Amino acid sequence: MTQIATERKVVIPVPEVLQSLKDRHSVLVASFKTKQEEVTKLEQDIGSIVAVYNAYYFLKKVWEQKDPGKNGVVYFLTDAFGLAIITKEMVPQEHWEDKSVRERLRDIPPWCEKCPNCHERLPVIMTYEQTEDSPSGDEWTKTWKIYCPKCYRITQAREPKTCDHRF
Ligand SMILES: [Zn+2]
Repeated sequence: MTQIATERKVVIPVPEVLQSLKDRHSVLVASFKTKQEEVTKLEQDIGSIVAVYNAYYFLKKVWEQKDPGKNGVVYFLTDAFGLAIITKEMVPQEHWEDKSVRERLRDIPPWCEKCPNCHERLPVIMTYEQTEDSPSGDEWTKTWKIYCPKCYRITQAREPKTCDHRF
C-alpha cells in the first residue's frame, strides 16, 4: 500500500502571536515617545541658544540701524529705566566719533539683573520692533529679558509694552 504524504497540520497559536505583537508594539511606542520628548527638548535648547546668540550678536549691530525696529527686531542695552542706550562697548572704536553715533552714545552702566538659574549678573536686553503695520493701525513692541549665555535661559525682566506709534 502506497503511503500518501499528507501535509502536516500547521497550528497557528493566534492568541500568543497577537500578544507578542502587542508587547513589541508597546515597547516601540514607549521608545518612540521618549525619543520624541528628547527631540522636542533638543529643538527647544537649539532655539534658546539661537535666541541668546542673536541677542548678543545684534546688540553690537544696533548702532548701525537708521530705522531701528522697522524691518525686524533690534536689541538694545537699557538704562535703569529700561530706555534704550548705546554704550561705547557696543560700537567699534573707529565709529565712536561718527556724528550719528556720538550723539547717541551713553557712557553709563546698563541695567543688569541676575539670571535666576546661575545668579550671574547680566544686562537686561530690550527688543524693539514694529509688530503691526497696517492701515487699521500700527503697533510697536518692547520686551525686556535676560539672555543667559551659560544656561541658555531667557528670563523676562519686565512686562512687554506695546504702543500704536514709535516709543
Ligand atoms: Zn544663567
